[in-house]
Amino acid sequence: MRCSIGVDIGHTNIRAARVADGVPTEVRKERTDVPGGPESVLEQARRLIAELSGGDRLPVGVGIAGQCDSAQGVLRCGPGFWWPDMPFRDRLSAAVGAPVVLRNDVVMATVGEWKHGAGRGVDDLVCLFVGTGVGGGAVVGGRLLEGASGCGGHFGHVSVQMDGPVCSCGRRGCVEVYAGGSNVEKRARLALDGSVLKEMSGGRPGSITCSMVAEAAERGDESSLRIRDEMAAALSSGVASIINSLNPARVVLGGSVMFGFPELHSMVARGALEQCLRPAADKLTIERSALGDLAGTVGAATMALEFYG
Ligand SMILES: [Zn+2]
Repeated sequence: MRCSIGVDIGHTNIRAARVADGVPTEVRKERTDVPGGPESVLEQARRLIAELSGGDRLPVGVGIAGQCDSAQGVLRCGPGFWWPDMPFRDRLSAAVGAPVVLRNDVVMATVGEWKHGAGRGVDDLVCLFVGTGVGGGAVVGGRLLEGASGCGGHFGHVSVQMDGPVCSCGRRGCVEVYAGGSNVEKRARLALDGSVLKEMSGGRPGSITCSMVAEAAERGDESSLRIRDEMAAALSSGVASIINSLNPARVVLGGSVMFGFPELHSMVARGALEQCLRPAADKLTIERSALGDLAGTVGAATMALEFYG
C-alpha cells in the first residue's frame, strides 16, 4: 500500500486527505482563509499535512484554484485573484519537509477521475467541474494536458456569447459568467422581484446562495428556472465546443453547483450531444463525477506518488 497526501485549495474550502492507493483514509475540510492571504493559506496547508502525515514523510500533491506555472511550482494567480506570483510549491515543501507537486485544482481533480473515478480506462478524457467558478482538465492520447505554460484546460473561459456579460478574466460571455456559482448568485440577486428567492432570503439579497436558487427552481420559481436554463445552455454550448476540439471518449461533469441542480447534468449532456459534430460523438459517453468533492485531493495525492512515490 502506497500512501500520500492530497490537498485541494478552493476559493471556499480547503480539503486535505491521506490517500492509500487512490482511497482516502482520513479527510479534513475547513474554510479557506482567503482574507488572510497567501501566507495564511500556506500555514493552513502545512498544518493539515502535518496532522495527516502523523510523523511520516509522505509525498504531497496540491491543487489550487488559480493558474500555476507547473514547471516552476509558482502560483501565478491564486484564490481571490490578488495573490502575487508566489513560489508556493517550494515554500510548502520546505515547511513540511517533504516533496510537493503543485497544479491547478481542477487539473488535479481530472487526474483523480482519470485514475480512480469516472474517467478510468480511457486515453481521451475531458472533465468539467462547476463550483464557485468553472474549471476543467483533459487527458489527450493518454497524457495529461498541461499546455506550454501549465495553463491548459481552463474551459470555464470558453466564450459562448461574444457580446455577453464581462467575465472575471476580462472577456465577454465565458461559460463561467453563466454557470459559475458566484455568478449564479449575482444573477439571482438582480432578479429578486417576484421571485420566491425574496421570501427564502428574508429579503436580504446578500444571503442568497446557489443551493437556494436550485431549491427555488425545484419549486417552479420562474426566475430561478431561467437562471438554471441559461446555465444549461452555456454549459452545453461550451462542452460541445470542447468535444469538437478534443474528440474525447468520455466527458465527466462534476462540481458542487453541477450536483446542486438535479436536472442540470442530463440537460447539459443532451444539449452537448445535440450540438457537437456527429463524428465527434461516435465513441463518446458523458458521465457524472464519481469522486465528487474528493476528486481534487485524490488526484493530487495520485500525482504526488507518480512524481515522488
Ligand atoms: Zn472568462
